[in-house]
Amino acid sequence: MAEKSFPRGSDLLHDPVLNKGSAFTAAERDALGLRGLLPPRAQTQAEQVERVLGNLARKSTDLERYISLFALAGRNQTLFYRVLVDHIEQMMPIVYTPTVGEACQLYDRIFRRPGGLYISAEDRGRVAEVLRNWPERDVRVIVVTDGERILGLGDLGSDGMGIPVGKLMLYTACAGVHPSQCLPVTIDAGTNNAELLVDPLYFGLHQRRLRGPEYDALIDEFVVAANELFPQLLIQFEDFGNENAFRLLERYQERICAFNDDIQGTAAVALAGLYGALRITGESLRDQRVLFFGAGEAGIGIANLFVRALIEAGLPQDEARARCWFVDSKGLVVRSRNDLSSHKVVFAQDHPPVTDTVAMIESVRPSVLIGVSGKPGVFSRAVLEAAARQAARPIVFALSNPTSLVECTAEEAYRWTEGRAIFASGSPFDPVSLSGRHFVPGQGNNAYIFPGVGLGVIACASRLVTDDMFLAAARALAHQVSPAELEEGRVYPRLTHIREVSRAVAVAVIRVAFEKGLAGVAVPADLDAYVRSLMYEPEYRSYV
Ligand code: NAD
Repeated sequence: MAEKSFPRGSDLLHDPVLNKGSAFTAAERDALGLRGLLPPRAQTQAEQVERVLGNLARKSTDLERYISLFALAGRNQTLFYRVLVDHIEQMMPIVYTPTVGEACQLYDRIFRRPGGLYISAEDRGRVAEVLRNWPERDVRVIVVTDGERILGLGDLGSDGMGIPVGKLMLYTACAGVHPSQCLPVTIDAGTNNAELLVDPLYFGLHQRRLRGPEYDALIDEFVVAANELFPQLLIQFEDFGNENAFRLLERYQERICAFNDDIQGTAAVALAGLYGALRITGESLRDQRVLFFGAGEAGIGIANLFVRALIEAGLPQDEARARCWFVDSKGLVVRSRNDLSSHKVVFAQDHPPVTDTVAMIESVRPSVLIGVSGKPGVFSRAVLEAAARQAARPIVFALSNPTSLVECTAEEAYRWTEGRAIFASGSPFDPVSLSGRHFVPGQGNNAYIFPGVGLGVIACASRLVTDDMFLAAARALAHQVSPAELEEGRVYPRLTHIREVSRAVAVAVIRVAFEKGLAGVAVPADLDAYVRSLMYEPEYRSYV
């Protein structure tokens, strides 16, 4: 294939990777046939950023801001990432949760351009051909969803594309993975969402979900073809339905370089929050008893990593598991129940059945409540007051996303525990002032973990992603919280430090890869400098 010549004039302005818009210099305009195609005065990138921020501020909703930012990414990728990197605290809730949830619910309506690659049930037998249509060849990370369980919003089918697109933007913004190395994929295996199935504007397949061997064959064809085409590939599974998520992770975890963020990434972020909270209370992990509301991907994932950490701290496995109590939609997870999946059975406790949440708290006496139920309001006033009777500093993590599904708000957590709760949530909450005191809630955002894990894996060409890497990542993240941040009640560092956090996480992951003999390339001794050298910076380069 002939090498593509460098575009000129209008073609250059329409190339989002190379385009600099009003920032092309006079010399570049002369050399590249741009004179007259742009307003006369060349602007700096900083001036462009100011213009973008002003435009965003004039929009009346975050969904409009989301649309506007994505339009910018389609025109000028460098400027888009400059805005994202330099204003990550402000932009994260727009490109990711909570706004991304709303965007997915309307994805077929707000559609401008795909942003990623669709592989559908109709592509069986020619998935490799579809993958080859993607224009980039050095792809290092794929985030893939089948749209069955988007955030806490359920089955959105092909409209789930907003998730892999948004997550990969965070790989670039938070960890500097080059945009050309990122490929968002949505596997359209159908949808069981009755509204979408009859919606003429829904652009996914109007058919029910494939299940069983047909589904597995489609996923397997994708996994094999993707690894053949992109030999140094990391696959992140994202927002699959509960049963498929666990099954696919078990099937691929030991065979290819892959992980599931909802299970393993969430686990590391929650465990890091717990380590952070214990730095505030001065207690040890061994003394904690956790009551999980929700026994799905997030809850079971967190519990498994918590157990691993306890075992490393010297506890036998059964004692470590006994520290984890679960509530699901049917009540407390106890041995006498005969409706438990294999993932829950290992955590079933020897206890009479209970469905009343306050009675559960009084009986279990947890020091930590973790909400991953997708059921808003589950941490009611009565629940929070009961938790506050059991612990001097109850740790309350209400992780369900988006904000409309959160178990309790930050204000409720502080108010109903007399300001004693150490609180974190999945979607962001503003600081709370209560009786003259100021509280800063933490955001247990998976973006603290997965971009750094991905960067570390890519940097050492690890053959696998292991649970030990997530444990190391959790510890690295917890170490990044400064004493001043802990003082404010924060259990996570400020998002403004996310690139340093990702670097520390990546270094921790690389160390594990070498310890376990998984690294595929030699790396320099100064890991921090090495990782830093790999990170993409959204800066314009000169074309003349
Ligand atoms: P899932 O569907 O796999 O699991 C949900 C679980 O909640 C199920 O076990 C269900 O039985 C249980 N449940 C339902 N009603 C309940 C009730 N009234 N009380 C207690 N449990 C109940 O979903 P998941 O992947 O585990 O995610 C759950 C939630 O956690 C979602 O809202 C998701 O957005 C959120 N989440 C947040 C983060 C984060 O903030 N970092 C990460 C991952 C998931």
